[in-house]
Amino acid sequence: MRKLDTKTIVVASHNAGKIQEIRDLIGPLGFAAKSAADLNFVEPDETGTTFEENAAIKALASAHASGLPALSDDSGLVIDALGGDPGVYTANWAEKPDGSRDFAMAMQKVEAALEKAGAASPESRTARFVSVLCLAWPDGHTEFFRGEVEGTVVWPPRGTQGFGYDPVFQPEGYDTTFGEMSAGQKHGWKHGDSQALSHRARAFKTFVETCLEA
Ligand code: IMP
Repeated sequence: MRKLDTKTIVVASHNAGKIQEIRDLIGPLGFAAKSAADLNFVEPDETGTTFEENAAIKALASAHASGLPALSDDSGLVIDALGGDPGVYTANWAEKPDGSRDFAMAMQKVEAALEKAGAASPESRTARFVSVLCLAWPDGHTEFFRGEVEGTVVWPPRGTQGFGYDPVFQPEGYDTTFGEMSAGQKHGWKHGDSQALSHRARAFKTFVETCLEA
């Protein structure tokens, strides 16, 4: 495992919601981080078929373009009743013909697919959010950190916080969706805590423990 020995990195993302969450997580650790969007880097095509492959594509593109270590996140919602869909294609389900993204529409698509699959009871609507973080160096070295959080897909959507599919995801053991939680509640973690809640914070905790701490 290669350690990270600089506090200047690039957040290899063009997704405003993710960039904000990653900034929330790394900020308190003293990192200065510009995003790929701030630096006007071209958004690479996510041609992989796994979270790891797509995370590596994004992190390596930013590491090569900046000459700095870059941290990416590839994530998605894996729904059991849909055979793991939308999974790696979670962002694509929100894509409109003009290339913009509409998550209200994407959540409706998920609901329509669940109805078609006959998944009405909470027990039949189990899902997990997955986040794979990739830290890539300009020399091509990569490290991966995976976080997952189990939960249920609810309908109708609840809450206006967070981003993406947050209003329809209720983590196990909670009666609120991610869309009803503040950012701090959704992460459920700050440096030194022994547990985290969101998939991204869980992956981030592993990153901190293995790449930053001795
Ligand atoms: P990608 O990693 O760029 O392929 O996009 C993953 C997609 O999954 C995002 O566009 C979001 O729609 C969704 N997603 C990932 N993490 C979260 C989350 O924490 N909350 C809500 N939606 C998420």
